[in-house]
Amino acid sequence: MFSILHPLLAELARLPGKPVKLQVSNSAMASLHRGYPWLYAERVKAESHRGQPGDLGVVYDGKGRFVAVGLYDPFSPIRLRVLLASKPGPIDRAFFAERLAAALARRLPLQGTQTDGYRLVHGESDRFPGLVIDRYGDTAVVKIYTHAWVPYLHDCLASLLELQPLDRLVLRLSRGLREHPDSLHGLRDGQILYGEPIRGVLTCRENGLLFEVDPIHGQKTGFFLDQRDNRARVEQLARGKRVLNAFSYNGGFSLAAARGGAVEVTSLDQSGQALESSKRNFALNAQVPAIAAARHLTIEGDAFRAMAELVKQGQKYDLVIIDPPAFAVRRSQVREALYAYGRLAHLGVSLLVAGGDIVLASCSNPVSPEDFRAAVCAAAARAGRPLQRIRETGHALDHPLDFAESRYLKCLFARA
Ligand code: SAH
Repeated sequence: MFSILHPLLAELARLPGKPVKLQVSNSAMASLHRGYPWLYAERVKAESHRGQPGDLGVVYDGKGRFVAVGLYDPFSPIRLRVLLASKPGPIDRAFFAERLAAALARRLPLQGTQTDGYRLVHGESDRFPGLVIDRYGDTAVVKIYTHAWVPYLHDCLASLLELQPLDRLVLRLSRGLREHPDSLHGLRDGQILYGEPIRGVLTCRENGLLFEVDPIHGQKTGFFLDQRDNRARVEQLARGKRVLNAFSYNGGFSLAAARGGAVEVTSLDQSGQALESSKRNFALNAQVPAIAAARHLTIEGDAFRAMAELVKQGQKYDLVIIDPPAFAVRRSQVREALYAYGRLAHLGVSLLVAGGDIVLASCSNPVSPEDFRAAVCAAAARAGRPLQRIRETGHALDHPLDFAESRYLKCLFARA
């Protein structure tokens, strides 16, 4: 069947007006020279005119020399997301095609494997600031974090389709974009930009395990792809064990543990929908004997309260996984987040048999790995169960770490 990109995209490609010239503070200039991809609004001293999102913004130094060009967004605290620094060049289809080819090349190790759900483009780290593309089999989900990408979607996605055979492209809009609907020019969250609407259940494979994916209503773009390698590590730890997976979402860690030979896996989440999805994922993989043999239980409720209740009941597990949502998105929330991680670590070790394994993850961007480790270690020690043989891991290879702000995931494996 022949498909074309949504015709609206070609119209939107004509939107950008005259580039906005920006004068910036000396410190901002220095960080742009160092390759930092963001220019914050408060560091802009003057603008040639008030542009529209998606206009190009160009920074020159005091002597009129080019510093950087990028995507301008008057609504965002990040006024400019840099596409090119040091040397000017055309921002056109060939430019995006070259960057996409580089991003795809980094994922080559995943081609032809048992994984067809992975991140194709990881924003700033792949030099597409404010844009993420996740692949789920033959469907790709394109998520934008600034209106400034709207005019460039046509060229980017046309290039993507040339480089990577796909049947469908789905658009997701980050929450903030809905505050300025006019600047979406008719684009909608969940819109199909290419191919047929999704009928039935979309699935992807992670290390051979099948997961249903709902790119329109699911969290993130439908699945937490960043934990793939950590799930594989959990699989190696699970043989013969009783496992608790707190903040289980659709059961990624639960299925990995089950395939690894866990006898019983409890998925705990406050979302009934997420738990239903985890049950369907167990059913989808029932042809795997270890998964069919594992007992899967679910608990719907607040993890802090539910774990405290399990402690009270005297429940014990051989392996506890705790992978909560981000508790801090701003610096000001770090203290509270660390307290919450400590509380979870305390509850987690209290539920462990002596010498059991615990996996603690944090995807809070402003929480440093050192602070996270210190908080959970201190809490475990206070519970009388100090963590031993600690191993720390991060994202899988499709979430490269070139940009410091993108290093959000911390995962700690320990025995207690
Ligand atoms: N571990 C998952 C991802 C977790 S996402 C994976 O491997 O894919 C965070 C999950 O935490 C979501 O499913 C959300 O519903 C759940 N959640 C958020 N706050 C919660 C709380 N207080 N108690 C229990 N679950 C919670």
